[in-house]
Amino acid sequence: MKSLINLIKKENLGTYKENVSFKKLTTYKTGGTARLVVLPYNTGALIKILKYIKTNNIKYKIFGNGSNILASDKDYNGVIIKLTNLNNIIINDNKIEVEAGYNFTNLCNQMSKKGYSGLEFGGGIPATVGGAIYMNAGAYLESISSVVEKVDILDENMQIITLSKSELQYGYRSSIFMKKNWIILKAYLKLKKYNKEEIIDLIEDRKQRRIKTQPLEYPSAGSVFRNPKGMYAGKLIEDCNLKGFTYGGAQISDKHANFIINKNNATSSDIAYLMNLAKEKVKEKYNIDLYREQELFNFGDE
Ligand SMILES: Cc1cc2nc3c(=O)[nH]c(=O)nc-3n(C[C@H](O)[C@H](O)[C@H](O)COP(=O)(O)OP(=O)(O)OC[C@H]3O[C@@H](n4cnc5c(N)ncnc54)[C@H](O)[C@@H]3O)c2cc1C
Repeated sequence: MKSLINLIKKENLGTYKENVSFKKLTTYKTGGTARLVVLPYNTGALIKILKYIKTNNIKYKIFGNGSNILASDKDYNGVIIKLTNLNNIIINDNKIEVEAGYNFTNLCNQMSKKGYSGLEFGGGIPATVGGAIYMNAGAYLESISSVVEKVDILDENMQIITLSKSELQYGYRSSIFMKKNWIILKAYLKLKKYNKEEIIDLIEDRKQRRIKTQPLEYPSAGSVFRNPKGMYAGKLIEDCNLKGFTYGGAQISDKHANFIINKNNATSSDIAYLMNLAKEKVKEKYNIDLYREQELFNFGDE
């Protein structure tokens, strides 16, 4: 790891920090320590760092805002790469070219205020653009896939290629990125011009609705499970009498049963315990399999 740090310093490839707690890297605010976190300055620097990492068989993982990741309590002897510095944006009328590190909430609010429709669903999603493209983030039956035209990625051979939307295999909270080891560099989005006041009202309305129905006052990573077809995971969990069920410092939220919150210094194992419990009880009572929307990282069995 020291030699990677030396390379980053010598070639001025980015900023880095050693021994960073996953409490600072995830919105659950739980987990062990990452040996090294690197923020490359640009795509060229990212490629150099990745080439070094791959040649030297160092473990690595791309993190956006960590808002969909439960990192285990174990330390991670690898590199977390954050693309925070890849945050350029070009807005040309209704067309946007935006790099993966750009703050997704800001993008949604910024475009809506300009009177462009298509990203109203994203006002309360604390993602990076890269994370949103990866997850096909969405809400209110809309998702980012409806406005994506193409995406620039870095493939496993360190080639930058452009993929059109039809190649991204978008589905409900799923995309081709879940099956590949690619890095999302830039997204090209296309919005529609619409009535500015109506868009702003809609965003505000949804914001209030989230405040009312979601436990935003506690750390979480949003919805734990995908909704089974025609059903709500939260309702199924609630009907198993698990709303408010507490384990260690974690709780199945009493406001929204598809949220697990870090209520009081929870560990990631506390949260993982509740995830398994909810899944088991729903299977037992309804014979329905719940599938996680959130990703477990560094548990050793993902
Ligand atoms: C309060 C709250 C509310 C939420 N509400 C919603 C909601 O309404 N709808 C919804 O869809 N989600 C919601 N989420 C979940 C989360 O915000 C989304 O899943 C989001 O898309 C994750 O983005 P991120 O940047 O945090 O990605 P991370 O959580 O950091 O990463 C998620 C995955 O994407 C990969 N990844 C990230 N960036 C890149 C990249 N550049 N290239 C390749 N892979 C990458 C990571 O490796 C990881 O596998 C919510 C979360 C919270 C905390």
